[in-house]
Amino acid sequence: MNDSLAQIAARLQGYDPRALPVATAQAFIAALVPVVAQAEALPVRDALGRVLAADLISPIDVPAHHNAAMDGYALRGSELLADQPTRLQVIGGALAGRAFDAAVPPGRAVRITTGAVVPEGLDTVVPQEFTVPDADGWVQIPAGAVRRGDHYRRAGEDLARGAPALRAGRLLRPADLGLIASLGVPAVTVRRRLRVAFFSTGDELRSLGEPLDAGCVYDSNRYTVWGMLQRLGVEAIDLGVVRDRPDELAAAFRAAAAAADAVITSGGVSVGEADHTKQVMAALGDVLFWTIAMRPGRPMAIGRIGLPAGAAGSSERPPAILFGLPGNPVAVMVTFYAFVRDALLRMSGAAPAPLPLLRAASREPLRKRPGRTEYQRGIVERDGEGRWWVRSTGAQGSGVLRSMSEANGMIVLPHAQGDVAAGDEVEVLPFEGLI
Ligand code: AMP
Ligand code: MG
Repeated sequence: MNDSLAQIAARLQGYDPRALPVATAQAFIAALVPVVAQAEALPVRDALGRVLAADLISPIDVPAHHNAAMDGYALRGSELLADQPTRLQVIGGALAGRAFDAAVPPGRAVRITTGAVVPEGLDTVVPQEFTVPDADGWVQIPAGAVRRGDHYRRAGEDLARGAPALRAGRLLRPADLGLIASLGVPAVTVRRRLRVAFFSTGDELRSLGEPLDAGCVYDSNRYTVWGMLQRLGVEAIDLGVVRDRPDELAAAFRAAAAAADAVITSGGVSVGEADHTKQVMAALGDVLFWTIAMRPGRPMAIGRIGLPAGAAGSSERPPAILFGLPGNPVAVMVTFYAFVRDALLRMSGAAPAPLPLLRAASREPLRKRPGRTEYQRGIVERDGEGRWWVRSTGAQGSGVLRSMSEANGMIVLPHAQGDVAAGDEVEVLPFEGLI
């Protein structure tokens, strides 16, 4: 993790900062980012969406007792007769939450409900519906209805005491909260929330509430970035719009690096960009400027910006990771999903798995140039036969934010892919669960 940017780059095959394949950029970033060191204990519900800092070891057996998987009768499997019905006297009942706590002598059975503790010495449950009516206080089991051990859940069968129930790095979901609670564990240790500062750069940007002067646009990136950060569950720190002045930019980068583990900016990183963003980034940190083989979203800056040596906090925390995203509103979102999302999950201590892609047939031909990854905005839908289809949202300009809003997924056309014919299958990254 302490490798210099040059060392990381040297290990990557096909590293060319002027035409960087998406996969190579992703590998670079994965090698660059540190994981937050600090952890905190939280009550189970507060841990939703957080990352487990250590393996969660089960303090109990699950199930905690030998118990019945069906309503019926508990018995000794060794007493089942192979070629004629078995008749047993029923000496009592065991209910879920209320055990039968006397000894069960040979030749006897106990009525039992699902989940109830199977009395000591018994090892088989015959379901009620397999039994045959018999004299009062007796049960008759036809030959072959059950075998020894059937419908009997052994203590610790799902999870033994002392075994890891959840591994460190687990991003906790609703099922995990239930699992933790099922172990009787009231609090868990999770990594602290990642702090991510962000700001927009550009003299043409106006914030909400300001009049829109000639040639200006409202700053939308701080809203999409904020939204995407919220969905990731990180702490988002909004540093506003920063004018294209070296002193204001430097102050913003310093404030961001002091406050956060990661800094996301938008704008000012294009090739040939006249403004000062790139110079200030390069002056304050160890930063690379990439042209990525993708569309939209070619230019991007990546690097580290440190706190000045000796500044408060500089010894406890590694330098902040800088993601200098392009300014175009669609490019910001696409580069965020392509690079920043996984990086922030990694920094949070999680091991991001590749997102599942949906295969869908294209309704129309799509133009695609080999040698770059394209993310086209699409609308996926299922026809009456259950087949998935995708159509383009139309104009794919990287400034057309409406295309992103109308889409319900991105058609991901891989690096080597050429034009797509109507009816060809393509891969779609659905926004559901992502956005
Ligand atoms: P840049 O990457 O700075 O050259 O910006 C590319 C385009 O995106 C320009 O048309 C900008 O006006 C626009 N843009 C940059 N930042 C934002 C923003 N925060 N909100 C909306 N549009 C932006
Ligand atoms: Mg600009």
